[in-house]
Amino acid sequence: MSEQTTVDFRALGLAEPLLKAIDESGYTTPTPIQAQAIPLALQRMDLMAGAQTGTGKTAAFSLPILHTLLPLSSTSTSPAKHPIRALVLAPTRELAIQVYDNIKTYAKHTALRSLVVYGGVDIKTQTPHLKAGVEILVATPGRLLDHVEQKTLSLSQVQFLVLDEADRMLDMGFMPDLKRILALLPKQRQNLMFSATFSDEIKKLADAFLNNPTLIEVARSNATNDNVEQKAYLVNSDQKQRFLVQLLKQYANQQVIVFTKTKLSASKLARALERDQIPCSAIHGDKSQKERIEALDAFKAGSIHALVATDVAARGLDISDLPLVINYEISTAPEDYVHRIGRTGRAGAKGIAISLIDEDETKYFDDIEKLIKKQIPKEKATINTSSSRPRPSKAASAEDGWFQQPYQPSAAAAAPKQVPAKPSSAKRKVVAALLGGFGFKATPQTRNQAKRSAGKPRQKAQGNELAQAEVVETINTL
Ligand code: AMP
Repeated sequence: MSEQTTVDFRALGLAEPLLKAIDESGYTTPTPIQAQAIPLALQRMDLMAGAQTGTGKTAAFSLPILHTLLPLSSTSTSPAKHPIRALVLAPTRELAIQVYDNIKTYAKHTALRSLVVYGGVDIKTQTPHLKAGVEILVATPGRLLDHVEQKTLSLSQVQFLVLDEADRMLDMGFMPDLKRILALLPKQRQNLMFSATFSDEIKKLADAFLNNPTLIEVARSNATNDNVEQKAYLVNSDQKQRFLVQLLKQYANQQVIVFTKTKLSASKLARALERDQIPCSAIHGDKSQKERIEALDAFKAGSIHALVATDVAARGLDISDLPLVINYEISTAPEDYVHRIGRTGRAGAKGIAISLIDEDETKYFDDIEKLIKKQIPKEKATINTSSSRPRPSKAASAEDGWFQQPYQPSAAAAAPKQVPAKPSSAKRKVVAALLGGFGFKATPQTRNQAKRSAGKPRQKAQGNELAQAEVVETINTL
């Protein structure tokens, strides 16, 4: 965290039902972004907020919205009493689900309703929930436009617009979709934009859609978190995988996200690591939503040690206290580095970010160092000859284009079809762990997460479990 704050949530003037939910979530002090954003947002100002992942930005925008909407909440069952008043746009399904889970938790002592809609699942399963009426809608842009096209929602009463991870939305080519959506919203509204990095494009977006915004930054733009120890190894591409295995064994009691550039290399690497008895799973855009949720749950419960992820798939993953991030493949987009290492060192915790740089990647790493204005200490990788057998692999060169598509009415939206969910690979992962592949030492955090996954303690976990159950159910109905 970049600055200290002594304000408490009560001093921010939030309503009692929200304070109760905050208290039950175990938050005692607002994070810096919350301390700055909440009072301004409560004054109905437009905000352009620079906040890295893990800074508590979701509560920073959700709490003032819920507070302002509270007088309009209604226990009536009439859909007319529950128009969409706040629209939160997020670039990925994972982030959308995560934001929705948080909003649901913060709103649990109010009558305000929330819902999440995202692509990749049958649109028909979402329509009845929309028709019943919701005040706060979290959506990915493409699926929102699907619903607009099918006239299953109205945006005419939206008073709040949140663009979460706006930089990623632009990276993913959502600008045309955003323009279409913004044209459908009432002119009179409050806009809250959050972005981890501030590029010129982001500033242009802010100029175009925000009304005289107040800029808040809790960390220097494009800065990396000071809590994160960053280091890099120079390693030949044909030895990378072996060196990774060595590192994973060295950090055997720390859970890790391993980043690759493409879906293909994520899948290949996860399979290779499993063969090396490292309980792991891949999370990327070719996986079904059910598989992604299963992989994430297994990771949170500690039954897998390494989560191999592409940049986009990792967005929005709320994994607290992740101690280690490994950049297995260096992204060609330097901003990705900031996002990747933002997965560790969250909420003031210490973290380590290790990059493996091969002969073709030094130029990309130079760009990263330029962006973050920092030299990362580098050393030559020493491959331990006694470590596991060599398994050379050439990184896949195909770019991960899955998420780069601009909006097109999805097949699921145009003609809902019975698509069987892909077979889950979660069982195999657990077996790998049971075979005793890799020792995972539980931390109090992961133990709690494991307990939550097992349904205990019942009361505290209920909000999230319900949210998750709903998502899984939606997928099961495909
Ligand atoms: P976010 O940046 O919104 O993804 O939040 C990152 C994590 O911080 C989430 O697990 C939140 O539940 C948690 N969090 C948010 N606000 C606070 C707070 N004031 N105190 C402690 N944890 C928080």
